[in-house]
Amino acid sequence: MTIWLTGFALVVIVLATLALAARYNLWRPSKPLSLPRILMYHSIRPVVSPTGRGSGIVTTPEQFAWQMDWLARHGARFVTVAQLMAADDRAHMVAITFDDGYVDNYTIAWPILQKYNAPATIYLAPEMPGINPLTPEMVREMSASGIEFGAHTLTHIHLPSTDDATAEREIRQSRGAVQALTGQPCSSFAYPYGKLADRHVEMVRLAGFSSAVTTKKRVMPWAKVHSLRLPRLSMLGQMNRFEFWLTITRGRYRV
Ligand SMILES: [Zn+2]
Repeated sequence: MTIWLTGFALVVIVLATLALAARYNLWRPSKPLSLPRILMYHSIRPVVSPTGRGSGIVTTPEQFAWQMDWLARHGARFVTVAQLMAADDRAHMVAITFDDGYVDNYTIAWPILQKYNAPATIYLAPEMPGINPLTPEMVREMSASGIEFGAHTLTHIHLPSTDDATAEREIRQSRGAVQALTGQPCSSFAYPYGKLADRHVEMVRLAGFSSAVTTKKRVMPWAKVHSLRLPRLSMLGQMNRFEFWLTITRGRYRV
């Protein structure tokens, strides 16, 4: 009887482990925290949900504060993407990035970032429809205080399905628009939706950008990274703390 029970327990444990491994990226090797990482956020604001967590592109202030705290406690050196590009020693560097330019990046995220002396990079699509954007005054104030502003096309287009002339113009003009807002050079670009074809890398380079982030969810040694195809980890609002840890250590939490 005891042997039978032990066997049954073993089967349950094996099945549970397999189920966890099928759902989560636990089986992927953990990447050292010393490798540089670029994290992607969008909007930081309170939401009403049964879990208390956000969803999709919305991360709650509580989640964001906890995640910043976790990163700081684990030795993160917070930098902008431009600082990451320029660094000689990138060990433990973490670049916090926000896409699109939501007003809550100023009202909610920035005070939390300041607690950790953390700069960040915000990718603006200055003519993006349908969002509550940062005002030009907010952009100027943050820019003067060490927040980097990058470009994200003018209207947030899906590059692969846009004709080349429009894609080239959107990429080039977004750099000019961001520079006009901040009064500073703009060297960083983010592909909207993380989507690009090979020809867009050349357009980004010719427009004068020296870095461009994708949504390729990888943690990799800097030597293997292409500066105009930088990998970036999606910090989704629905992630619980375990899923956050998986994302940081494996690049993504789901298989
Ligand atoms: Zn975007």
